[in-house]
Amino acid sequence: MSAASKVLDRCAGAKQTGAGRWIARCPAHDDKSPSLSIRENDDGRCLLHCFGGCETSDVLAAIGLSFADLFDKPLEHHLPPIRGGFSARELLELNAHEATVVSLLAEKAAAGSLTEDDIKRLTQAAARLSKAQVLVHGR
Ligand SMILES: [Zn+2]
Repeated sequence: MSAASKVLDRCAGAKQTGAGRWIARCPAHDDKSPSLSIRENDDGRCLLHCFGGCETSDVLAAIGLSFADLFDKPLEHHLPPIRGGFSARELLELNAHEATVVSLLAEKAAAGSLTEDDIKRLTQAAARLSKAQVLVHGR
């Protein structure tokens, strides 16, 4: 089951608004009009955004999912290569990706369930973020 369909399964009355895009009533607040945007990325990640201002973690808690459920594949499969000649957009995407990984791992750390692999991945994320910094400033 894809990450987006897990979310869609738990959000009653979600309406598809385009390819890989849905809108649903937000489960985390008393939502009169649909204000939860659900998107599925090409890489299988699912992005949630509540226009009512809910945090993604609150939306996830309301439907009994965790950040890990927003990923289709295990985290280690989400490791885009860093190479020279990045465009600003690619750098932004890389940063956003690593930030997602870090927030996911922070969640696991808070729950006291960090594994050794997670710690390795976290160290990798830190290294990649600082490499991205160097690339940004190197322009
Ligand atoms: Zn909401």
